[in-house]
Amino acid sequence: MNEFDFVRARSPEHAVQLMSAVHEDAAVRTAPRYLAGGTNVVDLWREGVMQPRSMVDISRLRLADITDGPDGGIRLGALATNAATANHPLVRSRLPLLRSAILAGASPQIRNRATNGGNLLQRTRCLYFYDTQVPCNKRELGSGCPAVHGLARQHAILGASDVCVATHPSDMCVALAALDATVAVIGPDGLRAIPFDELHRLPGDRPDLDTTLDPAELITHIDIPANRWRANSCYLKLRERASYAFALVSVAAALDLNDDGTIADARVALGGVAHKPWRNRDAERLLVGQRPSSEAFGRCAARILDDARACGGAEVPGAPPGNSFKIPLAARAIVRALEMALAGVATNTGEDAFRALGAASASLSQGAAR
Ligand SMILES: Cc1cc2nc3c(=O)[nH]c(=O)nc-3n(C[C@H](O)[C@H](O)[C@H](O)COP(=O)(O)OP(=O)(O)OC[C@H]3O[C@@H](n4cnc5c(N)ncnc54)[C@H](O)[C@@H]3O)c2cc1C
Repeated sequence: MNEFDFVRARSPEHAVQLMSAVHEDAAVRTAPRYLAGGTNVVDLWREGVMQPRSMVDISRLRLADITDGPDGGIRLGALATNAATANHPLVRSRLPLLRSAILAGASPQIRNRATNGGNLLQRTRCLYFYDTQVPCNKRELGSGCPAVHGLARQHAILGASDVCVATHPSDMCVALAALDATVAVIGPDGLRAIPFDELHRLPGDRPDLDTTLDPAELITHIDIPANRWRANSCYLKLRERASYAFALVSVAAALDLNDDGTIADARVALGGVAHKPWRNRDAERLLVGQRPSSEAFGRCAARILDDARACGGAEVPGAPPGNSFKIPLAARAIVRALEMALAGVATNTGEDAFRALGAASASLSQGAAR
């Protein structure tokens, strides 16, 4: 029997007060948690990955509005569901990139329950993190990481550390990274706004910590600034199945074009490849002033993947195959997503996904044949 305290917050301030009162210095595994839609935290609890001593129910707080934000932007309430967000007229008309990314995630049933705040803070889908019979530095710091030499298809190729190769699983977050969103939180020290890039962490030597949030901080809303990406953006998600699967690699790509057709500005964010949504601003700048072409997109992809490192497999005889396939897959996906953004195709159909996957495996088999 898992005993725990359950309290329901009456306001965001009350939620923070309740959480601050129960949090103390609890280990990450037993730390009290906010409960929003419950689609991730309850799963992890049932699997024994987490055992929160207290739950603070925030699901009835009035944080579900989606409205015009400051300076022509859009504000998404933390408790708006993923479904309500993707289908909201403001998001449909002004943020096709975000809509496509949300709709590429999970299933309709889950999106009806899952909230925006919970999506941002969902935990990795690393198999070793979920398997409580094996060590995991993210679950229990210092216990070890069998994933480094294990089944690596879902694991990181960028920004990993010697002690953790887990990836962040969210689709929505990849679009929010590309859109330069800001996350508004309320905590024991008041309100603050966190640039999206600074919300999630790389694992380093503290893979147990996913974000830079104080444990009692509550996300209230997400602000997305006005942007010029509407006509030319795309979310491309490549995965093992055509639906209901997490990304092997995903790309949120967006282009702002000058009247003469050259690129005024560009955004490229990757999912499924790192402990956080991945952006490389140097690589984006390579596109500025260029005429759009597969070659220019390829140079951008190469810069993003300059530091990519595969994990798993090869180094240990008899180990399962590693994830080196993800590097060429990511390169092709970046080019493809930018081409689709240029063509005004907001999302991948199954056919597009399979074409990109096919091209990556063809290049792999050519490499193997040489
Ligand atoms: C089978 C399955 C498939 C899925 N596939 C995908 C997929 O392909 N792509 C994808 O992106 N996602 C996918 N998901 C994940 C899903 O989107 C998340 O589980 C969901 O978004 C979490 O939202 P929630 O409201 O249920 O969060 P909860 O489970 O209630 O909370 C998750 C975490 O966030 C914290 N939290 C929640 N709200 C706040 C807040 N406002 N402030 C501070 N902390 C908060 C909680 O304490 C908890 O730690 C899948 C989930 C399942 C179960």
